Amino acid sequence: MEFSKAIKKIRQHAEPIGKETVLLADSLNRVLAVDVVSDINIPPFNKAAMDGFACKRADLPGPFKIVEDIPAGKFSDKTINKGECARIMTGAALPKGADTVFMVEYHEIQTDGTVTFTRANTSDNICLIGEDVKEGVVVLKGGSLIGAAEIAILSGVGKSNVEVYRRPKVAVLSTGSELVEPYVIPKPGQIRNSNGNQMIAQLTEMGMIAEYFGIVADTKEEIRGKILSVAKLTDVIFISGGVSVGDYDYVPQVLMELDYDILFTSIATKPGKHTLFAQKDNKYVLGFPGNPVSSFVQLNFIGKELLYGLMNHQPMVKTFKCVFIDDFKRKKADRLEFLPVNITKSGKVKLLPYNGSAHILALTVANALMEIPIGVKTIEKGDLVNVRPL
Ligand code: AMP
Ligand code: MG
Repeated sequence: MEFSKAIKKIRQHAEPIGKETVLLADSLNRVLAVDVVSDINIPPFNKAAMDGFACKRADLPGPFKIVEDIPAGKFSDKTINKGECARIMTGAALPKGADTVFMVEYHEIQTDGTVTFTRANTSDNICLIGEDVKEGVVVLKGGSLIGAAEIAILSGVGKSNVEVYRRPKVAVLSTGSELVEPYVIPKPGQIRNSNGNQMIAQLTEMGMIAEYFGIVADTKEEIRGKILSVAKLTDVIFISGGVSVGDYDYVPQVLMELDYDILFTSIATKPGKHTLFAQKDNKYVLGFPGNPVSSFVQLNFIGKELLYGLMNHQPMVKTFKCVFIDDFKRKKADRLEFLPVNITKSGKVKLLPYNGSAHILALTVANALMEIPIGVKTIEKGDLVNVRPL
C-alpha cells in the first residue's frame, strides 16, 4: 500500500474517542473540540504602543502642557485639548482627544515645564481597538492543536477552561526474544531494547498518555496474552518487532486469531515496509518493524496520524523543498524512501553516513529526513528534494 493510502486508511478508521474539559494550564498539546470565539476586542481600547506623550497630531511639535500622567493599567477620563498632552506609558489606554503618541526618546522639556517634540515626523504609535482580534470572531477552530501560541490566544479571550478531545491511552510493547532492557549487559545473541523508551519518548513529546508494558518474547502465547491484557487497559497498542515475515513474527497471526481486522500489513516505504494496522471495535494496533529507525520513523508519521485522528486533528505535515547538493542513486525505486540528512544553514541538503534502518545513531546527527519518491532512482546535485525536519 502506498504511504499516502495508508495514511488515508488510518484516518478513515480513527474515530474521535470523546471530549472533556481541562484547565487552560493543562491544555498544551491537546486538540480543541469546539470553535473558540473572542469575547472582547484585542486590544480592548486604543493603546499606546510606545512610552511617550499623547497629543493631537495637528499640534506637533508643541510646546505642550503636560496635563496628565497615564501609566499602563490606568484609565483616564480627561480629554486632551489643543496644546495639551499626557505623559503615557506603553500599554496604557489613550486619553480622549489624543490621536498620536510621540516617543519619549524624542522629547525635550522646556524651562516653563512644557514639552516639545524634537523630530520632524512621527507615526501614530497607537494600537487601535480590535486591530489584532475583533470581538465575536472565531480565533481558533475546533480540531486545532494547542501549542504555546494557541495558549496565548486562549488566555487573551478568557478561556480558563478548554473543551478538548480526549487523548487515547497508548500502550508500548517491544517484541523480540533477543531483547534485554537498557540496564542489562547483553549476553551473546542479545541486544538492548532501543524502541520501548524511544516510542514512549515520542509519545511524551506529543503529550499522549503512554505506558510501557515491557518486552514480549517471540511466542504466540506471550504475544497473545500481552495483547489481550493490554488492550483492556488502553485504546491503542504500539508494537515494535514481530510484524514482518520471519518464522517468529507472530503479531499479525495473533491479531487475526483475536478477531482484529487487519487493515494493512505493509506499506511501500523504506524504512518501515512491514508496518501493520489493525482494529477491533474501538481498539487499535500499530505494529512497526523492530529496527530502531523503522519504528522511529513510522511512529512519527503513521503513529501520529492515528493518534491525532483519534483526537480529530489533521496534523500539518511539515515538508519543505530544498536544493540537494549530494549524489544519490538506488537500484530499486518501488518504495518511498526516507533518508537522514542535514539541511545546512543555507538551506542545502546533504546526505549523512547511513547504514540502514538499524542505524539509529544517524538520526542523532540528522536534522531532517529526505523523501525519495517512488519511481525516482537518481537525485543529482542541484535537484529540489522534499525534506521533513526532525
Ligand atoms: P523484527 O522487526 O522483529 O524482525 O526485528 C528487526 C530487527 O530489529 C532485528 O535485527 C531485531 O533484533 C531488531 N530489533 C527489534 N526490536 C528491537 C528493539 N526494541 N530495539 C532494538 N532493536 C530491535
Ligand atoms: Mg523480532
